Amino acid sequence: MDLWSLQIPVPVALAVVATIGYLFGRRTKTPEGELLFQSRRELRRAQLVAHELEQIAWTIRRSLAKHHSSVSKFKDRVGRLSDRQEEAACKELCREVEEILKPTLHLANQIAGAYDEIRQQSAKLMMFTEVRTDPLTGVNNRRGLDDALAAQFALMTRYDTRFSLVMFDIDRFKRINDEEGHLYGDRILQDLARLFDESVRETDIVARYGGEEFVIVMPQTDLEGACVFSERLRAKVEQEMSLTISGGVATALDGDSQDSLLARADGALYSAKTAGRNCVFRHTGERTESVAELVPDTAYHLPPTAC
Ligand code: GH3
Ligand code: MG
Ligand code: MG
Repeated sequence: MDLWSLQIPVPVALAVVATIGYLFGRRTKTPEGELLFQSRRELRRAQLVAHELEQIAWTIRRSLAKHHSSVSKFKDRVGRLSDRQEEAACKELCREVEEILKPTLHLANQIAGAYDEIRQQSAKLMMFTEVRTDPLTGVNNRRGLDDALAAQFALMTRYDTRFSLVMFDIDRFKRINDEEGHLYGDRILQDLARLFDESVRETDIVARYGGEEFVIVMPQTDLEGACVFSERLRAKVEQEMSLTISGGVATALDGDSQDSLLARADGALYSAKTAGRNCVFRHTGERTESVAELVPDTAYHLPPTAC
């Protein structure tokens, strides 16, 4: 049976087929695929797709119901005709109508099932995203970060791919809150999260780690690359916002765990704070050191002796 006979516009039919394939396909993805899927942007996109699909599925379901009812009406009309006119011909016609109706109903049931599946998958997706999103800033929360790090460690073990992260902390944020109020402080956190989110690569993961601390995970990035990027980001915040941030960079090493990696970044951040703030330090695995000299074009933003 062809979709034309259901009066379903071809693009809609194709969209449904693609969508169903997409949603069902997710179940059979490899563990790596599943882990990668946890990136926040992927989720956002998937959420939008799921929403669109739900709309399409709903439209199709409505069209099918309409189509079903018109076929039934037609069948009734033919049935009434048979009372008066050539009985044998009308019965034959009725049988033909039934034959047309059968696959239509079968397909309608299949689509109705797919519609319910899409709804369930959308609900799961929403839930998955919500529990991993910080409500104030919209970036990943601690759980989202934990999942992203677990995914990166799994990729590192399997494919020997490296990754790095930076932990940023707003300088003197307590003072900002005290002087300008908590609501203003909240807006600052939102603006900063947006700036991070807009500045990072598609594949990077931004997370709010604590009150005014953020972590950016940079897949496939070594320590040098992460330092250059983090220093640029620090300078950008200084230029574009009314505050400064300090950062600590660390790269994942063999034998690392989430805790040990985060602890090194935290150690580097502590060094940046004690060195005078508004600067970035890195942890080499043995010691912490300033990254200012690695990025000469932004080094002039730093106090001459601070870092
Ligand atoms: P430092 O430069 O050493 O980091 O100083 P600081 O004042 O930023 O650091 P401290 O850890 O002493 O203070 C962090 C402050 O962040 C405490 C609290 O007022 C503020 N804060 C934490 N969470 C939130 C939040 O959700 N909203 C707002 N507005 N402020 C928050
Ligand atoms: Mg702090
Ligand atoms: Mg702070």
